[in-house]
Amino acid sequence: MSAQRFKRIMLKVGGESMIGDREYGIDPGAALKVAEQIKLIYAEHIQIAVVIGGGNIFRGVAGSKQGIDRATADYIGMMATVMNGLTLQDALEKIGVPTRLQSALQMPAVAENFIRRKAIRHMEKGRVVILGAGTGVPYVTTDTGASLHALELHCDVLMKATKVNGIYDKDPMTNSDAKRFKTLTFKDAIEMDDVNVMDTGALAMSKENNMPLMVFELFNGDNLIKAVKGEDIGTYVSNDVQTVLASE
Ligand code: UDP
Repeated sequence: MSAQRFKRIMLKVGGESMIGDREYGIDPGAALKVAEQIKLIYAEHIQIAVVIGGGNIFRGVAGSKQGIDRATADYIGMMATVMNGLTLQDALEKIGVPTRLQSALQMPAVAENFIRRKAIRHMEKGRVVILGAGTGVPYVTTDTGASLHALELHCDVLMKATKVNGIYDKDPMTNSDAKRFKTLTFKDAIEMDDVNVMDTGALAMSKENNMPLMVFELFNGDNLIKAVKGEDIGTYVSNDVQTVLASE
C-alpha cells in the first residue's frame, strides 16, 4: 500500500518521549525528535491532532500514593501535560510546522480552550493541534483523552507511540521469544491480562465506538510515516480484523 492510509490521525505521545536521557522532566532535544517525526507526516498533508501525556513530570496515581488527594494530584498531572504541550509546540514551530495548543483545563494565557469545532478547523487549515490536559477531569489518563478526542474530532485512527514496536504476546522487554501481533481484535486486547498497552477504559471506548488503534514505536527510523502509509509497522487493533501474529 503506497497511498495514504489515513487522512486525519490522533497521535498519542507519552510524556516519557520528552525525557530523553534524563530521569525526570523535559529534554528539548527529545521534544525536537518527536517534532521531526510529526513533520514527516505533516509534509504529506495528513491532518494531525496530538494528545500529549505528562508522565515525565507528574502522574496523579504516584502523587496520591505520597498523600496528595487523588483528584488534586490528577489536576497537577494535567498541568504537566500542558507543560509538555508547550514544549512540543515550541519544537514543532522551530522546524516550520504551524500549531495550536488547546487545553481541556482553561489556561488562556498559554493555550486556547479546547473547542471541538475549532480544533477541527485548525487541522483543516493545516495546523497541528496539540491537546493538553487530557479530558480535563481527574481519575483518568491521557489515553482516555486520546480515545475521546479521536472520536469527537473524527480521526481515522488513534496512533499510540510506545517504547516497543507494537503489542506482543508477552512482555518483549523480559521475554526474548515474545511475538508481535500484526493485527489484534479489541476483544483480545482487552482480555489479555499481560498486555498493558493502554488503559482498559480507553480500549473499551475505542472498541465500543469502532475507533481503530495503531500501537507503534515512535523512535525507530521513520516508523510514524511508514505506519501512516500502511507498511507493516506495530500492531493494528480493530473490531474488523482477526488476531494475527507478525511473520518475523
Ligand atoms: N490526567 C487526568 N485526566 C486526564 C488526563 C491526565 O487526571 O484526562 C492526569 C493523571 O494524573 C495522569 C497525568 O495527568 O497520570 C499525566 O498523564 P498520563 O499519566 O496519561 O501521561 P503519560 O503516561 O501519557 O505520559
